[in-house]
Amino acid sequence: MSAVPEVEFDHVDKYFGETHVLKDVSLAVSDGEVVVVVGPSGSGKSTLLRCTNRLEEIQNGEIRIEGQAITDPDVDVNQLRQHIGMVFQSFNLFPHKTAMENVALAPEVVKGFDDDDAEKWANAMLGRVGLSDQAHKYPNQLSGGQQQRVAIARALAMDPSVMLFDEVTSALDPELVGEVLEVMRNLAEEGMTMLVVTHEMGFAREVGDRVVLMSEGRIVESGPPREFFANPETERARQFLARVH
Ligand code: ADP
Ligand code: MG
Repeated sequence: MSAVPEVEFDHVDKYFGETHVLKDVSLAVSDGEVVVVVGPSGSGKSTLLRCTNRLEEIQNGEIRIEGQAITDPDVDVNQLRQHIGMVFQSFNLFPHKTAMENVALAPEVVKGFDDDDAEKWANAMLGRVGLSDQAHKYPNQLSGGQQQRVAIARALAMDPSVMLFDEVTSALDPELVGEVLEVMRNLAEEGMTMLVVTHEMGFAREVGDRVVLMSEGRIVESGPPREFFANPETERARQFLARVH
């Protein structure tokens, strides 16, 4: 593990107009660490992720990726976003492109791969999410779980060193959730650095190295899953756990 955190929030404040959405948030994610962010709706979880790749700007503090402030004038936002893969609740695949073509698009356009190399690379990424045999299918020929795995493959195709997941299983039928969590578990085991917002407490417990609880824009508790679930320190955490269990 390198000494410099892969992702670091240093006393970050984020406002939307008058609304103070992230309040003095400090959080360091080490190389290879899986941090699971939980908390009630509206507590700032999505905003935390979106600030990480500058989909949102912050007003105070600093966010650093591998030690470099993301607001540093030397930082190219497009390169930053290539470095940080993001997967959302909605998969937003191109309906008229196959799974393979959806995954190959960014490597072609952004990395300048030719058709052959992009196809090989896309097929390799689909292999990582267990979809080698579905590469030629269109999104509407795939289940929601498979489409979300294509979206993960698409993010992996940029060879990111950090992956952000924002409630990626929330829109799925319950029977399709497991296959997506399994892909995420495999990525974690491969050593991917991950910041995961989820309501799946089983995943948090089993795959998370650390659980972070947000409430009203603040990190109110942070600790190893075993301690967080068995022995929460704060009243906030006890209330949250009473509701999700
Ligand atoms: P969570 O993901 O935990 O549900 P969010 O980060 O989406 O929470 O939202 C945190 C707070 O910020 C909420 O009060 C929400 O209404 C507000 N918010 C989020 N996005 C915007 C926006 N684009 N403009 C104004 N307020 C926003
Ligand atoms: Mg959210």
